[in-house]
Amino acid sequence: MKDTYRKLLAECEGARAVNTHCHHLPDGFQQGQTLDILLENSYAAWNGLTPGRTGESRDDYCRQLRATASFHWLEKGLQRLCGMDAPLCAATWDAYDAKVRALTADAGFHLRALREDCGYDRVILDSLAPCGRQETDETLFVPTYRVNMFLFGYGNDAKDHNGRHPLACCGWDRMPGSYPEFLAAVRNEIRMAKDRGAVALKSALAYDRGQRFLPVSPEQAAAGYRNPEASPEDVIRFQDGVFREICAAAGETGLPLQVHTGLGLLKDSAAMQLRDLIADYPGTRFVLFHGSFPWTQDVVALTRTFQNVYADLCWLPLLSAAACESLLRELLESVTPLRLAWGCDTWHSFESLGARMAMNHVLAKTLSGLIDEGRIDPAQAEYVIGCVLKEGAKRCYGL
Ligand SMILES: [Zn+2]
Repeated sequence: MKDTYRKLLAECEGARAVNTHCHHLPDGFQQGQTLDILLENSYAAWNGLTPGRTGESRDDYCRQLRATASFHWLEKGLQRLCGMDAPLCAATWDAYDAKVRALTADAGFHLRALREDCGYDRVILDSLAPCGRQETDETLFVPTYRVNMFLFGYGNDAKDHNGRHPLACCGWDRMPGSYPEFLAAVRNEIRMAKDRGAVALKSALAYDRGQRFLPVSPEQAAAGYRNPEASPEDVIRFQDGVFREICAAAGETGLPLQVHTGLGLLKDSAAMQLRDLIADYPGTRFVLFHGSFPWTQDVVALTRTFQNVYADLCWLPLLSAAACESLLRELLESVTPLRLAWGCDTWHSFESLGARMAMNHVLAKTLSGLIDEGRIDPAQAEYVIGCVLKEGAKRCYGL
């Protein structure tokens, strides 16, 4: 097992990848970094702990987080880019900080790390910059277009969880006068996003509302649009109508719809809530993100049942490598590996490399298990690695 694992890990490390989902922050953030800011802008920070400034507080921070997947893989990425082996702790804190400052003094370091250390050929960027517009290196990054805000066009003061409203984000002079005009404007924005180079649409609506988008009549949906008398129920029907229109537009423009599933508000956020929507739009490619963790088997069932569903393992190895191993194995037993993909889902190169190392580990561990059981041979394992890291994404997004 150990030998097979090591061989496959080397195989994964040498493979080039298409990173399907990333929030890489602008150049201005990446240059002149410190260890503390890197940690603040990582999933380690989502545990609600801060390292403080004393030796005691730093040691305690590391002790509390050491077993979590998010901290473990961030530490791995940090160690590799810094060229240091020692665990991160109070005694090594200043040495890591000095190394991070020295590396990131060079403005080109962060992109070199993505290309050379992480091995990315292309990266699909989900920018959280105001209104999603971010200057990027267009030879590496291609954008996905966030659609959450359109579900908040029902009133002037509504905003999605990123604080966005379509009027400001799209630069419209005024809101369209009627619901049908609003839908036409949304379709127009999607067409323009494609013309500007977007290769996908992205919904992070699991942070805004439940994921059951019911069929509604135009009249039902219109009752929620710019109507001071609208009930909360009317607003939900409006959102259902808008999201269904977005699904239709995704299919017609050939842009895959990337959908955050699993964590979020945890209110109807499991992927299975999308079942009827997926069935109603067979011409739309639905890319289910994050393995719907912790409801990972939803993704197996949906991918297996609907040919227009893809499973993207982005973020999952940083949430739980164990859950990702089990999902990967179940997916490999259910569908072609060309329906799988992976993205780092991080804000900077240090954590991105950690995420890549986590996915490499998951692939090597799962596939070496299958080889040792006699289920597959090394050539098949090599093929699967190529599909998950690159070919599945190239095919889905037409890159
Ligand atoms: Zn993300």
